Amino acid sequence: MIDATVVGAGPNGLAAAVTLAAAGLEVQLIERSERVGGGMSSAELTLPGFVHDVCSAVHPGALASPFFRSWGLERRVAMAVPDASYAHPLDDRPAAIAYLDLERTVAELGPDGPGWRRFVGPLVEHFAGVSDFTGGPLLRWPSDLTAATLYGMRALRFAAFGAGTASPRALGFATEAGSALSAGTSAHTVARLDRLGTAGAGLLLAAFGHTVGYPVPVGGSQAIADALAADVVERGGTIRLGEHVSGPGDIEPSRVVILDTSPEFLASYAGDRLPAGYRRALGRYRRGDGVAKVDFATSAPIPWADARVGAAPTVHLGGTRAEIAAAEAEVAAGRIPDRPYVLLTQPTVIDPSRAPEGRHTVWAYTHVPAGSDADLSDTITAQIERFAPGFRDTILASAHRSAAQLAHENPNDPGGEMMGGAVTIPQLIARPVLSATPWRTPVAGLYLGSAATPPGPSTHGMNGWYAAATALRDHFGLREAPFAV
Ligand SMILES: Cc1cc2nc3c(=O)[nH]c(=O)nc-3n(C[C@H](O)[C@H](O)[C@H](O)COP(=O)(O)OP(=O)(O)OC[C@H]3O[C@@H](n4cnc5c(N)ncnc54)[C@H](O)[C@@H]3O)c2cc1C
Repeated sequence: MIDATVVGAGPNGLAAAVTLAAAGLEVQLIERSERVGGGMSSAELTLPGFVHDVCSAVHPGALASPFFRSWGLERRVAMAVPDASYAHPLDDRPAAIAYLDLERTVAELGPDGPGWRRFVGPLVEHFAGVSDFTGGPLLRWPSDLTAATLYGMRALRFAAFGAGTASPRALGFATEAGSALSAGTSAHTVARLDRLGTAGAGLLLAAFGHTVGYPVPVGGSQAIADALAADVVERGGTIRLGEHVSGPGDIEPSRVVILDTSPEFLASYAGDRLPAGYRRALGRYRRGDGVAKVDFATSAPIPWADARVGAAPTVHLGGTRAEIAAAEAEVAAGRIPDRPYVLLTQPTVIDPSRAPEGRHTVWAYTHVPAGSDADLSDTITAQIERFAPGFRDTILASAHRSAAQLAHENPNDPGGEMMGGAVTIPQLIARPVLSATPWRTPVAGLYLGSAATPPGPSTHGMNGWYAAATALRDHFGLREAPFAV
């Protein structure tokens, strides 16, 4: 019997494995694909010499993560943090830009600057408390009540704004700039803008923009995954690639098993060993919509109409807040909008190592109904061209993946959904079931540590760390896990 097996080498599986190995356990990590990283990996998707992030590209959540801070992410992987966190181009107007420096953001936003400061400033000031509140299960007493209250009140106001029951002026926005900038971060959740979960996630991403920033790992996301994997091996763990686990019979008997998988997989893996009520709760867990992605290799930087956008590795496309809200509502209603919200990154503006000299990589995705097999390359290209005329002429090659293909590549993303389950308030509280320790399943020794547990999606590794810490306490009597927060 070995100490621990981790199934799935996404950021959470890797975080769990490194935590268990650091506690002195004999750890085995099994991954179905041929490389570690899951949603945090990179590959030459277009042309030789052009390295593209397969899924995650920008990692504010990792920089803010207590696990990664304690593990020493910035010591192990060069993280390039840009001065411009994200940009939001607008038609026939200057783009709105969120800089790491809040005061510079306020100054460039003009009339909307003071509103932006009033809205985001207190969260920046109380960032440690906000980060702690959002970085764990919501079902617990916050360590910093002031920060949690500031965050909660703003999320409520922001959701009301999204629903149209609070005006932009109530938030201090007199022009389109502040409204659009806030819509750009909210739309990350792949959900309607009038939802509280969407508003809360958007606020956190806005606060990241002026605190940890929007970093890209030098060399691509794979650099983080590889550094974690190397540490697992250095601490005596083993990693097996190219092995799909279907059930307990596929792994050696282990005192503890941590699944970095979907709740759907947990249900099939554990089968009748799970009580009927728990299985029903897993069955009620809802998935959100999907994404369709296109990667470009280009001969030149993107020719943005507003040249300042070229300094921001992360760009939100889709125009005004009203346009983005309408596009997200279309997707939620099962349709593909003509002019959708597009999340774009241009990592080579800060990390030229990813392409041959003078060449660039562009990563972009948009939201589509779950399971869609539509090719959105032309639609995404048109949205880029809208704010950067001439972009089309710079394209050397492109590679598209539909939501259906993304689902096929990673069983954690059914329907091409990238969030580990819809990001709604009920599903942030009960993720995937209502419990103070949702990582622990009713089967002794079996844990779930993927993005389908608190604190939800992104590459912070906290879900895996929590699962490992719970297992260490339950089975090995260790009250304080390595990399304790
Ligand atoms: C297109 C896209 C863009 C994204 N962009 C960002 C971004 O810029 N920033 C950000 O923070 N987040 C981003 N995300 C989200 C982020 O990638 C996920 O939240 C994160 O990867 C979830 O980590 P995880 O470890 O829970 O699961 P995953 O990363 O999905 O890893 C799960 C791993 O388990 C393996 N696995 C599953 N089942 C089995 C099995 N039965 N046997 C063996 N192996 C198995 C899978 O192959 C996979 O490698 C993006 C996601 C997508 C899809």
